[in-house]
Amino acid sequence: MSNSNSPLRVTVWNEYRHEQESERIRAVYPHGIHNSIAAPLRTAGFEVRTATLDEPDHGLGGDVLANTDVLVWWGHKVHELVSDAIAEQVVQRVWAGMGLIVLHSGHFSKPFKRLMGTGCDLKWREAGERERIWIVEPGHPIAQGLPEQIVLEHEEMYGEHFDIPAPDELVMVSWFQGGEIFRSGCCYHRGQGKIFYFRPGHESFPTYEHPHVQQVIANAVRWAAPSGLENVVRGHIPVAAEELEVYES
Ligand code: ZN
Repeated sequence: MSNSNSPLRVTVWNEYRHEQESERIRAVYPHGIHNSIAAPLRTAGFEVRTATLDEPDHGLGGDVLANTDVLVWWGHKVHELVSDAIAEQVVQRVWAGMGLIVLHSGHFSKPFKRLMGTGCDLKWREAGERERIWIVEPGHPIAQGLPEQIVLEHEEMYGEHFDIPAPDELVMVSWFQGGEIFRSGCCYHRGQGKIFYFRPGHESFPTYEHPHVQQVIANAVRWAAPSGLENVVRGHIPVAAEELEVYES
């Protein structure tokens, strides 16, 4: 855990395949989705690094995860190429207190599915329709500085039922032009860690350039930052917290 005077250490992870394989997607995110997410987080004062699938250990090896306070995750087409070992390390770090922000199609990523324990499937449609993201928990830290709705003119639709456990806190709900709705800002506690799932961010629309979307992600990083106890003792405790009388059976 970084001490309270140093900036939060954020790692933005991106599969980074659409942008390299498709000219159309590269035109939307010329430097990759990870850099469009990372730049405003740097401006917000965080210490930000990026990591991508095709780097050794997906850019998450060595002490990267140990030195990450909050991990941001974008993946879509090749979730299965993320190694089970790295996915497990992400899960273990969340249990130990690392924050995790899962974006858009990351609903099917290995770490998110393992942490949720459900199928995480949903309805979807690629029609470039309007999305209205309504804040339904206006007192939540992730809602700070936002209007009561964020309007994205063109997005992919995700619809209910979204097969997730009931969120510990539901901060946002989306409405789509086609009529569907979706729980689009979901908070979870797992172990000592906090997880925020945030729906928007289809690769063919410049959603991560939207200032309110950037504000949500920055707020979510602050909310998900490690807090609480640094060391929790588990397992066999031969010495009791108070002196015990020996009970002879
Ligand atoms: Zn998508």
